[in-house]
Amino acid sequence: MSTNILAVDGPFSKFKPFIIKVAWIEWDEIKPTKNTKNVATQYQWRMKKNAWTNVFIHAFIEHCPYKTLKGCKISFQRHKVVMEPVIGNFMSAQAVCTRNSCSMKYKFALKRKPQCNAEVSILVE
Ligand SMILES: [Zn+2]
Repeated sequence: MSTNILAVDGPFSKFKPFIIKVAWIEWDEIKPTKNTKNVATQYQWRMKKNAWTNVFIHAFIEHCPYKTLKGCKISFQRHKVVMEPVIGNFMSAQAVCTRNSCSMKYKFALKRKPQCNAEVSILVE
């Protein structure tokens, strides 16, 4: 992969998935809480509004191994939390890069609910 290209073009499949890490103390601030005002059960558990995207973006900038992707301006589109997933992820989120020259799409995933006081490893692909 060339590192002198500033603008990148999706899909992410050109890159290897990587892990970003969030400290427990940060995760504890944004971890999903139940909102029973939402009727649809799939939207009851939500990470802390606005705060979680900031935490994820900072973790992305810190841990992204690709120079060409580090400049991506990530905008999250949706996230989903399943408290006890039988299949699939505990948390998943989708994001896009908002730079005009870049159409990169990202998926963030957390397979299981993080252990208390443990660093949280989120897969980006
Ligand atoms: Zn980008």
